[in-house]
Amino acid sequence: MTMIKDYNFAGKKAIVRVDFNVPLDENGNITDDTRIRGALPTLRKILEDGGSLILMSHMGKPKGKFNENLSLSQIKDAVAKALGRDVKFAPDCMKAQEAARDLKPGEVLLLENLRFYPEEEGKPIGIDKNSQGYADAAKEMKDRQKEFAKVLASYADVYVNDAFGTAHRKHGSTAVIADYFDNQDKMLGFLMEKEVKAVDNILKDIKRPFTAIMGGSKVSTKIGIIENLMEKVDNLILCGGMTYTFAKARGGKIGNSICEDDKLDLALEIMQKAKEKGVNLVLGTDCVAGDSFSNDAKTQACSAMEIPEGWMGLDAGPDSVAQFRDVILPAKTILWNGPAGVFEFENFATGSKAIAEAIAEATANGAFSLVGGGDSVACVNKFGLADSVSYVSTGGGALLEAIEGKTLPGVAAVE
Ligand code: AMP
Repeated sequence: MTMIKDYNFAGKKAIVRVDFNVPLDENGNITDDTRIRGALPTLRKILEDGGSLILMSHMGKPKGKFNENLSLSQIKDAVAKALGRDVKFAPDCMKAQEAARDLKPGEVLLLENLRFYPEEEGKPIGIDKNSQGYADAAKEMKDRQKEFAKVLASYADVYVNDAFGTAHRKHGSTAVIADYFDNQDKMLGFLMEKEVKAVDNILKDIKRPFTAIMGGSKVSTKIGIIENLMEKVDNLILCGGMTYTFAKARGGKIGNSICEDDKLDLALEIMQKAKEKGVNLVLGTDCVAGDSFSNDAKTQACSAMEIPEGWMGLDAGPDSVAQFRDVILPAKTILWNGPAGVFEFENFATGSKAIAEAIAEATANGAFSLVGGGDSVACVNKFGLADSVSYVSTGGGALLEAIEGKTLPGVAAVE
């Protein structure tokens, strides 16, 4: 596999898939530029070698149609500022032939949002999956996706994938495009390499004890990773909204707490499996309940198994936090995905903050800690602890799939 550090981009046009899907406010201003900064090492290397850059990304979910609010033209100036040089803009990613041809060494061209074309995602839009015509439409779209990727590939001499956030998708720009480059002219960018290495650290050569903390709102979206982690971890903390599905499954009273009633059996199966595997499953025993889903709700601490009618568990309670700390502090490998409560509300952020602090302490004592998934990353940023953990991943779904052991199409395509 070609390594970016060994490649000389002098005189080459490089098309780079970046993840510039940055959050914007209502005026189109970037509220968090982490993703742009994340791509800089790769972009600088190419420019400093004497190459030129064609940048491509998606933003949001425009569903195959032009959408002014999701135009990458809004971030052109921020990219120019970050790179310290002018950035040209191609307002249609399929009509950038001339702009790409005229690009000189050191110049940068940003293509418009790839997802303004349905071909990028390669799935028929507006056709019911169960309808008769879907299979044919899907096949036709796959052919169109190849053509789409071929046009993008025609702009450049070399392809670099540095968009970890979309690496679990087999999209035109993340995977299919790689078929149009020779092996020596396609590679991962520095950010992708770092992400892949961080996952490797978690999957191979595990230093024990290994504690994983899975939180967030639902069990259903995390079941794949929970089952997979069960094969690897010593301690598994399940917190956040899923606490109450487990509590109800065990016969608890959960008031109005969030709960997936169709996952009660699954919760019991997970508990049974943990027992069989010898995994220490930690479910918080108490919670901070609120009388409404609001930061201004009245609060009370109560058992997670006995939440009064009309109240809902919105954060981990003090006993739970102590239980979590007990298994986080001695850990030598730590994975955190998903908050322990509704951390967006100041009054229900205590549990998530305590987890972040415990992870930071364990990291200072030599643990390798990986934090991933939008909300946990938002947590460590909010609490000012991003620099106190070993690695903060830019990937949500991609990170979880990688840790589940799935091959990421965006990585496989250039390997
Ligand atoms: P997920 O997208 O599944 O990782 O869930 C993240 C979301 O879960 C965050 O927005 C949290 O506010 C939310 N969350 C965490 N704990 C709870 C809870 N006890 N009740 C409702 N939502 C929660």
